[in-house]
Amino acid sequence: MLDAKQTLLTYAPWSYSMAGLAKDCSYAFNKKYVEKVKGDKPEDSATSTGTIAHRILELGLLGTAVDAAYTQALVEYPQITFEQRSQLECFRDAIESFLRDVDTLDRKIGIVYRDVEAELCITPDFTAASYSEGSDRLLRGKVDLHLVLKNGQALVIDHKSGAARAIKYHQQQLDAYLVFITAKQPDVLSARAGIHYVGTLPDRRGKRTVWGPGYSRHAVQSMVRERVWSWLLSVAANLNEIKPNKCWRCSRFCEYQLQCPLFNGQS
Ligand code: SF4
Repeated sequence: MLDAKQTLLTYAPWSYSMAGLAKDCSYAFNKKYVEKVKGDKPEDSATSTGTIAHRILELGLLGTAVDAAYTQALVEYPQITFEQRSQLECFRDAIESFLRDVDTLDRKIGIVYRDVEAELCITPDFTAASYSEGSDRLLRGKVDLHLVLKNGQALVIDHKSGAARAIKYHQQQLDAYLVFITAKQPDVLSARAGIHYVGTLPDRRGKRTVWGPGYSRHAVQSMVRERVWSWLLSVAANLNEIKPNKCWRCSRFCEYQLQCPLFNGQS
């Protein structure tokens, strides 16, 4: 049997979603990433609406006016339903408000680096690596927005269209973002990551972005790295035994339920 570190390196490069699946259900992970079996993914219009909202935000952050970004996104997704179009209109306030906040940040502090849909990756020794090629990739991810401010602080933001959750539920994902950006940007002095909830009402301050703690560069390279490494090892250890595990994925999202022994499928 492989130890956790060997397992980790065997399946690398990891993504946050891949690691989440391994942690939740080794059976589904094995189907998807080892046997490479195609599942039966249910149509989920909420996901599609979220994808289009991401695209509108992406266009806005790249400088397209909001109305034009909506028009372009609707051209790119011609299959959109009336309900989705209505839902996207409900997101408009959040999208406009977010773009205004980024402009304000630029005016008040100064944005010296901006990357939208940034593709980031690290090696097992936590140095930056190519996202798409190379044999030494440990963990990679796409970051919706990566900014570096004039004061040396890096900010990373992930847009989510679902219901807001406490920031602790996103800790592993945000930790990964922090190690990505400090590996990529040697001049960054501190870093902070947050979630922008595009589909929710604003909080009492009129904001929809929830931030994790800020860290110095040193803290990311010691404490946060350690957390990421421990999390990945715990994920890999879960693959020692391939068995279905009833979890939140079963009822709503699992594409392997028809094949799953726990749901009378054939193993
Ligand atoms: S239905 Fe649940 S237990 Fe079965 S493979 Fe999917 S996530 Fe695992």
